Amino acid sequence: MRLYTHPACLQHDPGAGQAESPARLRAVLQALDHDRFVMIDRIEAPRASREELLRVHDAAYVDRILSSAPASGTFRLDEDTLMSPASAEAALRAAGAAVAAVDAVMTGHTGHAFCAVRPPGHHATADKAMGFCLFNNIAVAAAHAVAAHGLKRVAIADFDVHHGNGTQDIFAAEPRVLFVSSHESPLYPGTGHEDEQGVGNIVNAPLSPGDGSYEFRELWDGLLLPRLHAFKPQLVLVSAGFDAHRDDPLANLRLSCEDFAWITERLVALAHAHAGGRLVSSLEGGYNLSALAASASAHVAALLD
Ligand SMILES: [Zn+2]
Repeated sequence: MRLYTHPACLQHDPGAGQAESPARLRAVLQALDHDRFVMIDRIEAPRASREELLRVHDAAYVDRILSSAPASGTFRLDEDTLMSPASAEAALRAAGAAVAAVDAVMTGHTGHAFCAVRPPGHHATADKAMGFCLFNNIAVAAAHAVAAHGLKRVAIADFDVHHGNGTQDIFAAEPRVLFVSSHESPLYPGTGHEDEQGVGNIVNAPLSPGDGSYEFRELWDGLLLPRLHAFKPQLVLVSAGFDAHRDDPLANLRLSCEDFAWITERLVALAHAHAGGRLVSSLEGGYNLSALAASASAHVAALLD
């Protein structure tokens, strides 16, 4: 098992009062700095290349992100999405982590990898930053798996409490990528209805405010996991957001750490059933620091099979 991260991901600083803060990644890394995780190989994430980014983002958008980091202070790209001096470097490392992790599992250097990175990615579309996201890390990884490794079936499982609108948008016409998502609805960003199905490769499973473990597991066991198994993915990618935790301040689901361990075990089993065990997970949301740390630990512990 490998852990990909980079110091720049701690330096991306949207400013005081922003939920998506450096303290989030510090909390995750601190939780993973524990004896039970001592056997994990820790790798410094490389930068994503321009070619890798252009598989999912418009050239003008990549240029805009790479040139918008301010010399000091912050620059606002949208209502929730800000850049600081280190943000372009952090975004390149966050996307590069996912690409390197895909290469590592495809070449057999490891079975599972977790990318402890920020900014998160799943709201970023081909040409728009939104919801704290700059480059769509998991989408860059999926496109890399298809383009560089020739895969014909790549699955993305997204259990962040918010719908991964950017990932859906990018792959809505790409049958080699299956995107399945559970998320709270109604909630930001307002997408993720059951009738959004792409070319039959998008499966959305909305949950209602107040839903918890039972409803979450029922949706995954009854709908999302069967769709994933039927697809027989050659690689399993995970948008691992932990903001469906009951203590999260940005949403209203009621999951616990045990639920994150549960879904992780199911996704690991999926990877072993069809994909030679190959699974890459990348951090998305999670905004209560102690809940995030405990949930990410439970997730990574379940990846250590
Ligand atoms: Zn989220």
